[in-house]
Amino acid sequence: MTSKSSSHPHLWDVIVVGAGPAGATAARTAAEMGCRTLLLERAVLPRYKTCGGGLVGASVAALPAGFRIPSRDHINQISISCHSRGIRTLSQRDPVVTMVYRDEFDAALTRSATEAGAELRERVQVKSVATNGETAVVTTNGGQQLRARSVVGADGSTSRIACYVGVRCEQVDLALEAEVPVASDETAAWKGRVLLDWGPIPGSYGWVFPKGNHLTIGVISARGHPHATRAYMNEFLASHHLSNIENARTSGHLTRCRLPDSPLSRGRVLVAGDAAGLLDPMFREGISFALRSGALAGHTAAAIATANDGQLVRETTDSYARQINDILGTEMLESRKVLTLFKKHPRLVHTGLTRVPAISNKLFDYAAGRATIPELLDNTTTQIALALASRP
Ligand SMILES: Cc1cc2nc3c(=O)[nH]c(=O)nc-3n(C[C@H](O)[C@H](O)[C@H](O)COP(=O)(O)OP(=O)(O)OC[C@H]3O[C@@H](n4cnc5c(N)ncnc54)[C@H](O)[C@@H]3O)c2cc1C
Repeated sequence: MTSKSSSHPHLWDVIVVGAGPAGATAARTAAEMGCRTLLLERAVLPRYKTCGGGLVGASVAALPAGFRIPSRDHINQISISCHSRGIRTLSQRDPVVTMVYRDEFDAALTRSATEAGAELRERVQVKSVATNGETAVVTTNGGQQLRARSVVGADGSTSRIACYVGVRCEQVDLALEAEVPVASDETAAWKGRVLLDWGPIPGSYGWVFPKGNHLTIGVISARGHPHATRAYMNEFLASHHLSNIENARTSGHLTRCRLPDSPLSRGRVLVAGDAAGLLDPMFREGISFALRSGALAGHTAAAIATANDGQLVRETTDSYARQINDILGTEMLESRKVLTLFKKHPRLVHTGLTRVPAISNKLFDYAAGRATIPELLDNTTTQIALALASRP
């Protein structure tokens, strides 16, 4: 592409805010398309991020060609319990999920962006964004103003850029997590295996994800029940004899799912990943959503950078919204149906997943990226069953 900013040294083609999976991918994509791209990150990489670090097949498929995943484990067994009871372990021969530490994974993705030509500036916290004619102006906490032809907000679930764009969410959840160091016999017991536990609060669940000599243990449930969520976390840890978490890193985090008609852009400013509220409502898997929306946002921002009139900018951002809604929006819609069923009939879901091979195979197909949730539910009988089960 012909870079507009090359004749204006203080004008970037694309500024990306946030160097998580969405931002690193958007920056790499825009840079690969020839854009002068600046990636702003408030932390210094590698930085800790509260996350299970489970890469489902859709995430792995969305990684750049030749990317070496800094993997800590490969999962081919899924244990499922219902409030720590009725545990059953399902196995497949080939691994379906890859475990990573997010600090290592995000730093590697950001390296791909800088190798493609993006400039990374760390310790820069963005305070606000505004549009001024044919440019967008990003203001940092230090009071610096940076100008670009297009901005991608990939600054996570507490996004400043999302406020500017007007992102609206219909599901906000509270997640609690602990990274627990474990002894070698425990390490061996969990190798290659994750645990999912359906929790006592409707729609809640817990997980144990192995990372070699650490286990990532967490629970998630709808925001608004902090005491019950904390109690569930404590019971969950106790049921696995992991209450002694003095040496564990513990943290809490909110996750957000957008309303289907929530905006994805305003003028020359786009949002991607958690900032856009793009997250699977049932499992709260968000890395594949961040990688896929980040790539689309990078392409869109590169196209906006060369757009001279407002009409072209609108057409370009409309196309971004269409693609996000067609692919990720459809996945979220179908996943929400599964969540509704799970909230009402957790035991039915548990029995189906643990006793009916046709259903447990679907879980493996989803985890491996062999099928999306809409594809898994894509038959009339399943849709009728979901509709009936979801009736008041
Ligand atoms: C407890 C928990 C467990 C999870 N487990 C999984 C899992 O196992 N698998 C999965 O797929 N998903 C999981 N998710 C979801 C996943 O973590 C997110 O969906 C994913 O991180 C979204 O990526 P992102 O790039 O949009 O945002 P983030 O990863 O949050 O990255 C945002 C970046 O922006 C930076 N930033 C923020 N504000 C500013 C600012 N103002 N200026 C500059 N920089 C800024 C941050 O420092 C950060 O580096 C989990 C979430 C939680 C809370």
